[in-house]
Amino acid sequence: MPATRESTAAVIVAAGRGERAGGDRPKQWQALAGRPVLSHAVEAFSGFGRVVVVLHPDDMEKGVAVLGGQVTLVAGGTTRAASVHNALDLLDGSGMTHVLIHDGARPLVSRDIIDRVLGALDPGLAAAPALPVTDALWRGAEGNVAGAVARDGLFRAQTPQGFGLDAILAAHRAHPGGAADDVEVARHAGIAVAIVQGAEDNIKITWPDDLVRAERLLGRDMDVRLGNGYDVHAFCAGDHVTLCGVRIAHDCGLLGHSDADVGMHALTDAIYGALADGDIGRHFPPSDPQWKGAASEIFLAHAAGRAAARGFRIANADVTLVCEAPKIGPHADAMRAELARIMGIGFDRVSVKATTSERLGFTGRREGIAALATASLVKA
Ligand code: MG
Repeated sequence: MPATRESTAAVIVAAGRGERAGGDRPKQWQALAGRPVLSHAVEAFSGFGRVVVVLHPDDMEKGVAVLGGQVTLVAGGTTRAASVHNALDLLDGSGMTHVLIHDGARPLVSRDIIDRVLGALDPGLAAAPALPVTDALWRGAEGNVAGAVARDGLFRAQTPQGFGLDAILAAHRAHPGGAADDVEVARHAGIAVAIVQGAEDNIKITWPDDLVRAERLLGRDMDVRLGNGYDVHAFCAGDHVTLCGVRIAHDCGLLGHSDADVGMHALTDAIYGALADGDIGRHFPPSDPQWKGAASEIFLAHAAGRAAARGFRIANADVTLVCEAPKIGPHADAMRAELARIMGIGFDRVSVKATTSERLGFTGRREGIAALATASLVKA
């Protein structure tokens, strides 16, 4: 069976305390383009069946704050191998067929590399990206060149490294310990590992200069777009409302042709707006009976798909709901998680907040709910 994103788990290892990169925090928590290195690495695996992030036990709270509900967090062990082992144990019996294991300090892993690793896992091989060594290799001693080393057949190993889940779990359970990476664990168990093409940009943040380089790689040739959206739906008889994908029990409902998810409609229009690509009404005419009662997820996924097809990623989205009731605060994180899931972006890129209109106007008279949204799109 081919390895698909849906049937594959991602394990992202970020439990180390490596301080070679300098700064006041471990490298996976240092800022890259305004957010932690780790959140870039996690986002690359959005759409995988399960995403497990291994953190240092002291970092679990920070992990929840940054990564939210979109991933499973697990505490690491004293070695990298022990950390991976903890994550694999958690995935035992999860129904996932394969697993990709990735360094949390490699924030620039591309979709192409992930696809190459997944593609090589069929039929049952393990696979890992690497680059052939092209520079001359020397052995040095006391600051001088002490001899040349043949580079034929030598590769620089990268991650994600991909395996059958059961096979790599069994290999970790049988390994005596001390392996440098999961390929070594797999090979010790007799699993063949194919080499797929890595990428120069898939750097591991190790030294202070690496962060500067990663910033540069992320920032080149940028096309940045902003869009806004606004929507209103009136209250009607009912027992719940659906806001930003979350069903909330309420003493009335919202009137609309679809599920009347006013927040999701505003956000969908913000994305269309950034693309200068019309609005919901143009793509999903209310006169068309097939959208009656539709889940608004269809609209938002369509807008996100139009953005992706034109090479844009959604850098962030911000939704404001204007109503006196229901209370939004207790549901805001669930709404953020749902919008992030539909758009295929990180939880930390989505904001949902609410305000009242001080009992003024139609929202103040509890006649309906208004929503405003902004979305930014980036093509890098
Ligand atoms: Mg609407």
